[in-house]
Amino acid sequence: MIFSIKYNVKQLRITFNAVMDTLLIVIVVLAVLVLIIGLVLKSAKKKPLIVQPIPESFRQLLAEQVVFYKQLSPDKKQEFEKRVQLFLAQVRITGVKTTVEDMDKVFIASSAVIPIFSFPGWEYVNLHEILLYPDSFNHDFEQKGNDRNVLGMVGNGAYNHVMILSQHELRQAFINKTGKSNTALHEFVHLVDKTDGSVDGIPEFILQQQYILPWLQLMHKEIKEILEDKSDINPYGATNEAEFFAVVAEYFFERPELLQQKHPELYQLLSTIFKQQPAKPAAS
Ligand SMILES: [Zn+2]
Repeated sequence: MIFSIKYNVKQLRITFNAVMDTLLIVIVVLAVLVLIIGLVLKSAKKKPLIVQPIPESFRQLLAEQVVFYKQLSPDKKQEFEKRVQLFLAQVRITGVKTTVEDMDKVFIASSAVIPIFSFPGWEYVNLHEILLYPDSFNHDFEQKGNDRNVLGMVGNGAYNHVMILSQHELRQAFINKTGKSNTALHEFVHLVDKTDGSVDGIPEFILQQQYILPWLQLMHKEIKEILEDKSDINPYGATNEAEFFAVVAEYFFERPELLQQKHPELYQLLSTIFKQQPAKPAAS
């Protein structure tokens, strides 16, 4: 009797182990299958984008309206055109109560490419769509009524991966060649800043560790000067470090010679951050 029970327990244990082994094999096979299906779907999604050559009308707009492009060498111009086309193939631009024209596409894509032109292969992974509003809007995205002081914004929450721009403001920045502002570029600089996970004025993704402290110190010095009314930098830059970074980036790309002359230290550090020297050498 005792033997018989012992035998049965052993038998049960053997059966149990066999079942567990089979289960384990099934689980492993399933996991491998899920992994393979995942990889297949991912590679299907990551099909290389077909980027069309730039239309002649776009090239003409670049040549006539985009100062940054005009100053590039023929080789770099070609690269700029390619990256404009790549951006337009990746990000949807939707007009809200307005029509998106060629001019808007070229201006938006240029604003996107200019700050990251020295970073080959850069993709705005945190952006899927741009909503173009005819004019300014308020923080509830309303286009009517008072308090419509917002000209552009990078969305949060439900609007994550969305950027909203004012069409009027977008065009104004390119038509007016002597201003220090460019709202679309400002918003793209916020996205560059956001690549490390936080919009805080410190673009850690592109800024080497050793420059972070000098950058913070310089930001605080320049913000203090704005607050004391001793600066020609847009006072909006004194809101916080994130706005300061975006505002001075506009100044850096729109009026580089003036920035270099008035704020040489700031020009130098922004050159380090963006790996660009947009100021033409001063005539001697
Ligand atoms: Zn901003």
